[in-house]
Amino acid sequence: MFTNYIEVDIDKIQRNIENIKKISKNKNICAVVKANAYGLGATVIAKYIENQVSYFAVANFLEAKNLRIAGITKPIMILGFVSVEEANECVDYDIEIPIYDLSYAERINKSIVGDLKVHIALDTGHSRLGFREFEFDRIIKLKQLERLKIKGAFSHFSTADEEDKTFTQEQYEKFERIRKKLDDQFNIEIFHIANSAASIYHDLISDMDRIGIAMYGIYPSDYLRERKDIRLEQAFLLKSRVSFVKEINEGDSVSYGRAFKAKSRMKIATIPIGYADGYFRAFSNIGEVLINGKISKVCGRVCMDQIMVDVSDIDCKIEDEVILYPDIYEEANKIVTIPYELMTSFDMRLTRVYVKDGSIVHIDNYLGELYEN
Ligand SMILES: *Cc1c(COP(=O)(O)O)cnc(C)c1O
Repeated sequence: MFTNYIEVDIDKIQRNIENIKKISKNKNICAVVKANAYGLGATVIAKYIENQVSYFAVANFLEAKNLRIAGITKPIMILGFVSVEEANECVDYDIEIPIYDLSYAERINKSIVGDLKVHIALDTGHSRLGFREFEFDRIIKLKQLERLKIKGAFSHFSTADEEDKTFTQEQYEKFERIRKKLDDQFNIEIFHIANSAASIYHDLISDMDRIGIAMYGIYPSDYLRERKDIRLEQAFLLKSRVSFVKEINEGDSVSYGRAFKAKSRMKIATIPIGYADGYFRAFSNIGEVLINGKISKVCGRVCMDQIMVDVSDIDCKIEDEVILYPDIYEEANKIVTIPYELMTSFDMRLTRVYVKDGSIVHIDNYLGELYEN
């Protein structure tokens, strides 16, 4: 019996990828599994989807190395900063890195032993990483860095999940202008720009889509969720159990700071999950959970390891299942964040249980135990 766990449905992830392929103009998928696959567990998921995708992307070197150690053989690219020392290791592990600064690229080129595959990062309006259009003369100088093998060029959208397509279109047009100039100068295999939102909502042609959130069955924004251009199946649930049930009297307070006081006699259940597990303290007095099919509200402050909820109208007992985030979009909105942040906050203390064809195929827990069948 698991107490606090994330149930991950492998079949749903696989179906989401196939459905994205059906509606996107681009047939090659780069599975974005940064931040431990948005909290769901990168190595297990990567193994199950490896034959559906062309590429994997992560945020940093250790995430990439972790995939290689786990046996992933498809190309892996890092999307964020890679130090000179890490770049050296990337050569050994055949990990690809972004290049966006000429002098740092020169330092990497000087330091590494062997060839390193790189992707030119282009800033088309997100202002995070990347060469800008007016710096084309600097991009050209990358040619002189003989150890850097330029395999790709990419950019990133800042508003592809919003109704107004104007800025995304501007970014795409800028990307296309640079692409044409790059094609004259380099022999670049893959141009890639689309994230989940762009591949669902925009008809853009490039060589590959970088899909993160949609793969896990979450729409990139409330707007795209309402549009339903694609059917995505949420591939995970965060679950816990009732640890204790009791009645309290009118005027009794609940949890730290006495931020909740009972207005009448009521029934309270305790649940052994808290902010240390990634259930934000901001849900104090406003979070909702699902117990035996009914919505129950958090009473008082979220503790480090436990919460109390109102079960006055719910039949429940110790061990009954609790689903946190009955509607992850609504819960995220309540605390002014997005599902991305709720997911990537899932702590190591939560067991990950992977289900395929209705049975458990893998379990990862705090002790690093691994059961495979
Ligand atoms: C995180 C990220 C993605 C994936 O974004 P989703 O919205 O999860 O699809 C794609 N590209 C880059 C550069 C990213 O940082």
